[in-house]
Amino acid sequence: MNVSQKLLSVVKDTVLENRPQQNLMATAIEETLEKGGFLMVEAGTGVGKSFAYLLPAIEHALKNGGPVVVSTHTLNLQEQLFQKDLPLVLKAVSGEGLGTASAILMKGRGNYLSRRRLKMALENNQQMDIEGGEVDLVKIQEWSLNSAEGTLAALPFPVRSEVWGEIKSDPYHCLGSKCATYDTCFFHSTRRRAGGAHLILVNHALLLADLALKMDEAPGVLPHYDVLIVDEAHHLPALATEHLGTSVTLSECMGLVRKLLYTDEKAVGGRKGLFTLMPVAGAGEAVMEFKEAAEDFFTEIGLSAMKSSAVNRAYLLPAETPDIEKIAQPLRKIQALLELAERSATSEEMGLEARGTREECRALVSTLSHILDRAWGEESCYVVEPDANALRRGEVKAASIKAIPLDASSLIREHLLSSVKSVIFTSATLSVGNDFGYFKHALGLDGSDEADRVKTLAVGSPFNFKKQVTLFLPRSMPHPRREEEKYIREVIEYTKASLKHSHGKAFVLFTSNKMMRQVSEAVRPTLDDMKITLLVQGEDGWDRTKLLKVFREDINSVLFGVNSFWEGVDVPGEALSNLIITKLPFQVPEGPLVEARHARLKEQGLEPFQVESLPEAVLRLKQGFGRLIRSATDVGTVTLLDPRVTTERWGRVFLNALPECETVYLSKPGIPEKAAARRR
Ligand code: SF4
Repeated sequence: MNVSQKLLSVVKDTVLENRPQQNLMATAIEETLEKGGFLMVEAGTGVGKSFAYLLPAIEHALKNGGPVVVSTHTLNLQEQLFQKDLPLVLKAVSGEGLGTASAILMKGRGNYLSRRRLKMALENNQQMDIEGGEVDLVKIQEWSLNSAEGTLAALPFPVRSEVWGEIKSDPYHCLGSKCATYDTCFFHSTRRRAGGAHLILVNHALLLADLALKMDEAPGVLPHYDVLIVDEAHHLPALATEHLGTSVTLSECMGLVRKLLYTDEKAVGGRKGLFTLMPVAGAGEAVMEFKEAAEDFFTEIGLSAMKSSAVNRAYLLPAETPDIEKIAQPLRKIQALLELAERSATSEEMGLEARGTREECRALVSTLSHILDRAWGEESCYVVEPDANALRRGEVKAASIKAIPLDASSLIREHLLSSVKSVIFTSATLSVGNDFGYFKHALGLDGSDEADRVKTLAVGSPFNFKKQVTLFLPRSMPHPRREEEKYIREVIEYTKASLKHSHGKAFVLFTSNKMMRQVSEAVRPTLDDMKITLLVQGEDGWDRTKLLKVFREDINSVLFGVNSFWEGVDVPGEALSNLIITKLPFQVPEGPLVEARHARLKEQGLEPFQVESLPEAVLRLKQGFGRLIRSATDVGTVTLLDPRVTTERWGRVFLNALPECETVYLSKPGIPEKAAARRR
């Protein structure tokens, strides 16, 4: 059987169909897995890319011995793969005589319950007394007796993060094989099963956490693998920057204080910390000294970093930083006291808690000095992030200090890609007009050494965009930066008129919360008059899932969204037939990390706008555009209210990257009748 016949057997019991683009993709993946190398596949909406990689991946693992690691960015996709797509593929492959394949879903360590820590928390319930913890802990124990997964997400009721923090699996407090519950430990048994699985499903955060551990020569979480498939791969470079750096936050310092010596007298039952369970002379003073030192440190560093203004998300670490000893000294004192506590512990369990917490203190001092000493030299950007809540109260304080690698691409290439035989990257948005240069550069795969090993493939979408979409480009819109006020007024007028035509059924995508609020306030009365429900991201305290549920159920609603609504949102049918994109999604606000990266590109003789800002924005626009057509029967309109696509030299790059569709240039304000007709 060839790949397309096999794919047919995967989807034969479903309403899904096998498509030529899917066959092309599966064949290319099969070849890459056989020969080794890197393959980047851009697969448009509706290709059914998960089957196109799961089938060859499982077959490869059965023939060669696993495991194949499949990594996704979102939980939604992970669940779809594990619950829906994988069972179909496993069933189809089971008839091929290759044996039975196994697959496992693995999460980050902190997602798993530690049976030992739960038992200890229950035993110390009276003393440990996490506010209201008694109820939670007993319920969690009952659930854990029958839970197969033992993860936070599988808990059928909510658990406060402070409670979970005391009972989750964590490397500092783990006895490993010496633990009495090691054999039934949720985390370790998942890890053991992963070692023998043909396919391990993870998310990018876990993939990168595993990489960070291995880079530090610590044992990773994942077993060795030769094949890696990265779906939603366009997220990997930015996430690598985030996860391969290091940070110290004020909230983790305060968490440590609470763990050691809970001091909130108002708390029900007078919650107590580790030093109350294991009293040591001088512990209270040492913890309070550390608490004050940490608060002073983050205030001082915040004040000196944010001298110039307080509008950015991040500032450069100032040249003069507070003396690290102010924090390090009390932390060392606490470590010594924890050592005493460990020695006089009444049980092995309590001793382990003290040892684990001592290790946490040691790691905190080490990370702090790493960042303040700029230990990674010019390879990293050292930043201070402000505490947004404090800013709202009119105070200036830092929330965190971070060291962020400037060039995550070289870390990915050296530490991840060089050790894996075959890697497949796939997403609906990897190329800019079929050019994969930006993505290759972001992964450090643009050098001549890699030229032979990296293959690319763009398979497009099976949907007929020419018939299904009309793109409106109003030429008369003012420049969004140079004539901002006028531009926003025009956006408001267009949005009102467009929503009147479509009677809701629309997404309006923004690049900033401020503009979203301005436009929503201005259009709300008109929409109220027309009985159109306006849903605005961040209002009413509704999360994305709730907003989407209401949007899908109320056919005459409109949803205003920023960031997370540009991608991963699937609303097929009439409910979403009008998409308005306000501004081109260039990265904002620019911070020290972007500036430092751009400076580095310039040093390399590259133009940051061309090699980074522009392609990033193009990929994001493609994601936003992709919200409209989710099935072969969907029809609708997209309006792009940023005139720069037609007025700027580089504007065509955006238009060329979109699927070919009917394009209408509007020379005067207003909605043409055609817009209404298209949606009928
Ligand atoms: S093995 Fe480690 S993580 Fe598992 S229950 Fe024991 S202490 Fe907790």
